[in-house]
Amino acid sequence: PMIEVDEWVYSTCGYCSVGCGLYIGVKDGQAVTVEGNQDSPVNRGRLCVKGLYEWKFLQHPERATSPMIRKKDKLEPVSWEEALTFMINKMEEIRNEKGPKAIGVYHTGQLLLEEYYALGKLAKGVIGTPNVDSNTRLCMASAVKGTIRSFGTDGSPGCYEDVDEGEVLLIFGANPAEMHPQLWQRILHNREVKGTKIIVADPRTTLPAQIADIHLPLRPGTNIALLNAMIHVLIRENLLDEEMIDEHTVGFSAVKALVEDYPPGRGEELTGIPAETIVEAALLFGKAARGTTLYGQGVNQSMSATDTAALINTLHLITGKLGKPGCAPISLTGQASAMSNRDVGGSFSLPGFRNPANPQHRLEVAEAWKLDVEKIPAYTHDIMKMMELIDTGKLDLLWVIGTNPAVSLPDQKSVRKSLENVFLVVQDVYYPVETAAYADLFLPGAQWGEKTGTYTNIERRVNLANQAVEPPGKAKGDLKIFQEIAKGLGAEEGFSWLNPEEVFNEWKVLSKGRPNDMSGMTYERLEKEQGICWPCPDIHHPGTKRLYTARVFNTSKGIAQEYGDFNHEEGRARLWAIPYTPPPESPDEDFPLWLNTGSILEHYHTRTKTKRIPELVITAPEGFVELHPLDAERLDIREGERIRVVSRRGWIQVPAHISTTLSPGQVFVPYHFGDLDPSEAHLKQAANHLTLNWKDPFSKQPMYKTSACRIEKV
Ligand code: SF4
Repeated sequence: PMIEVDEWVYSTCGYCSVGCGLYIGVKDGQAVTVEGNQDSPVNRGRLCVKGLYEWKFLQHPERATSPMIRKKDKLEPVSWEEALTFMINKMEEIRNEKGPKAIGVYHTGQLLLEEYYALGKLAKGVIGTPNVDSNTRLCMASAVKGTIRSFGTDGSPGCYEDVDEGEVLLIFGANPAEMHPQLWQRILHNREVKGTKIIVADPRTTLPAQIADIHLPLRPGTNIALLNAMIHVLIRENLLDEEMIDEHTVGFSAVKALVEDYPPGRGEELTGIPAETIVEAALLFGKAARGTTLYGQGVNQSMSATDTAALINTLHLITGKLGKPGCAPISLTGQASAMSNRDVGGSFSLPGFRNPANPQHRLEVAEAWKLDVEKIPAYTHDIMKMMELIDTGKLDLLWVIGTNPAVSLPDQKSVRKSLENVFLVVQDVYYPVETAAYADLFLPGAQWGEKTGTYTNIERRVNLANQAVEPPGKAKGDLKIFQEIAKGLGAEEGFSWLNPEEVFNEWKVLSKGRPNDMSGMTYERLEKEQGICWPCPDIHHPGTKRLYTARVFNTSKGIAQEYGDFNHEEGRARLWAIPYTPPPESPDEDFPLWLNTGSILEHYHTRTKTKRIPELVITAPEGFVELHPLDAERLDIREGERIRVVSRRGWIQVPAHISTTLSPGQVFVPYHFGDLDPSEAHLKQAANHLTLNWKDPFSKQPMYKTSACRIEKV
């Protein structure tokens, strides 16, 4: 290291879910640099541009350093005592008047596992509300539901070694080059050294599509049609694993009957991809002895999202590409800690992938928490449902933690109206932040580098991130905030942990015997062994790289995370027969273009962190709309010209970026940018003014990828 430091603190990157190991360099009590961890099996010392500059946002002048209460239309600094008393009194008043359901909690995929556990216990056990959700709803809820519907419980079946060992890699609706840069480096290395064949299914010619052996540029909203056509070819050519189908799954005859209607010619009609290219892709995948799929937001935020995830699993099951090296369907989660939230029941489930609708599961949790089982709700609501509850006067207090719904939720006009009509508590690490403009109370939390805890990454590896520095001013670790609120609500006893490891130890007892068993893990082991993949049921267990090696699935009613027709034969995975359904909104005369939204390398989410890093802002200072040269010519638009993108919900005004990465008739807008200054039309850039408030029926995840718009000159 070039920079002189007093101490190197072992940690894990807090941005994306790849989970790169790193050390934070501390000098005079301040973070001054980071260094990739050479021993980490995840990144072998390398970091991407976001990880490299991660330390910089810790000392930013816009860090929130004091609690604030809205007084005379302005948030004014107050003491913690005043802020927490205000919040607890308000919660009790609402609980007494309307019951616990009138309180909602909406948090982030960037807390630590320990914080999710404590917050879940507080919200579901102490407050007793079903209105608990996380912004992970926006990025991987469909992958979760699809995984549960196929295998019985959540959890990616594979690991990064499956990416290395696959002869063929199917990248379906994902752009790891921008979203998961270090995983992308591995993919490039494998392609170079091992000759891994790459198939990319994506409407855009992204970086992965540019280097792919086969690019499948499908029409927006046609994932199911493409997968059905590929499965048709696999069945026709008998590229199947009969033993897997006969002995370990149910539902094959329905799949076979359904895909008869999807020959490659119909696939071409629906997806726009030439039939012979669909056949070529299916044969490449089917004939390879080892194949892994990586899928992302192009699945999760698209039409038929849960169904698509379940169909990707079906593709792997019928070809036997599961539970062995180089063979896995892997969902690329977005945030560092999205998987931890799922592990410990931070939002829709209960800890240990327990099903809140299962009385036995609720009882196990209530006993561990020493609470009345009646207190724990048997269901939960998603965030868009919570917005509806605000609008109908049923939800009076919303506590938003570390997320920014005033930029990130679809159909911003209605979201902002809802935020105006609720008692809003915002807990964040920066101020100003867009959602705080609506806050009645603001609580300053701590962030990565300022607290200790664990993150579970894409491959189920639980990684330790240690505290390196103190949070600024009066900002406080989120776990401490949750503990103090629990105490204020009279639940001190169950929240008296002295440090995060005590929380981890409490959780791991509840994980015993569950699919994501962490009972053999300790913080000491996590650091020494560079993270451990669950399940790890005892102290000598090395962790588990891949699930379902014995081809026994978690579909028994005692274990399953949800009930449904996938439970009807215990221990067997479920194959899904799914017809193609067109999206609810497609281009028409008034709105003739497909609108796709997504992310870019430099930014993360709504840029609360990345807009405060000059090195990132310099290369990506503002929003834009990408459109094809033919559309630009037809509309007489020049590169860089500020134009208006208009949908049925609203409009934005951004510079045009003319690019052949899209097909004609499609436009792409990055979702990171809010309204840089809402009073200035040319700074209204939040892509979610345009997006459709339409949720996947199973996962309740908004469909950000598929709606219609038009372009107007200004
Ligand atoms: Fe962090 Fe992801 Fe970049 Fe790794 S790839 S350094 S985890 S942002």
